[in-house]
Amino acid sequence: MTKLPSVLITGASSGIGATYADRFARRGHDLVLVARDGARMEALAARLRQDTGVAIDILPADLTQREDLARVEARLREDETIGILINNAGAALSGAFDEQSLDDIERLVALNTTAVVRLANVAASRFAKAGSGAIINIASVVGLVPEFGQTVYGATKAFVTFLSQGMTHELAPKGVYVQAVLPAATATEIWQRAGADTSTLHTMMRVDELVDAALVGFDRRETITIPPLPDAAQWDSYQAARQAMLPGFANARAAERYRAAS
Ligand code: NAP
Repeated sequence: MTKLPSVLITGASSGIGATYADRFARRGHDLVLVARDGARMEALAARLRQDTGVAIDILPADLTQREDLARVEARLREDETIGILINNAGAALSGAFDEQSLDDIERLVALNTTAVVRLANVAASRFAKAGSGAIINIASVVGLVPEFGQTVYGATKAFVTFLSQGMTHELAPKGVYVQAVLPAATATEIWQRAGADTSTLHTMMRVDELVDAALVGFDRRETITIPPLPDAAQWDSYQAARQAMLPGFANARAAERYRAAS
């Protein structure tokens, strides 16, 4: 029997990433777990090794630090057993845009975009040469909703969705599958870590329901998976509206409304 590809999961110490680790271990995949909290990942790995018998490596790394990120990139580049990357590590940032600190914004952008695109690029290069592989990028519905007022977080997640769509366009013909998962509010530690109100956690989607739904989308090879959205046709209409503008983008003349009256 051919061996299943190993799965490298970032942000695997808690929440969505830890749940993906559980599900892929139960599917029989070996794992490489990445996050800062090595002890927490060891505890998860010990439980999963015992329950499932898969091999699990722990790679502690702070993905906002270039040297740590480089170690994860090297592992992805050199370990040919890894055939699935889950770009999940991420954080949120509370407060109004004009009151957020530049350092906090820079750290968020480093984690939610720079690390994601660097790891995606390294994985895509090797997977495209091999003609197979899968990349799951965890975005967010917040990236579609500027009205939520989470401007920087939402912008990083819009980046991840666009990145995934562009990667699909370029990489599907080379045999590489890319999925963007857009969760809405899900009960994890992200809220507490961002200093947000946690009193409504019990009304949010449970993390296991979110990941199990996302895996249904993965198995169907969806490009975009939005677990809480009841009407999938709404997403299709949204894409159709965008694509309907494409001929207009090709005009060499400014639109009539912008031409100076002579
Ligand atoms: P979480 O429980 O806080 O998990 C975040 C994970 O990222 C943890 O494993 C954390 O581990 C890791 N991480 C944080 N900073 C890191 C850093 N500098 N370097 C390496 N790893 C780091 O939150 P979650 O909800 O599962 O978040 C997972 C993804 O889902 C994020 O991308 C988030 O934006 C997205 N998402 C969440 C929701 C939601 O409502 N929960 C909604 C939409 C999208 P360590 O602390 O050990 O490093």
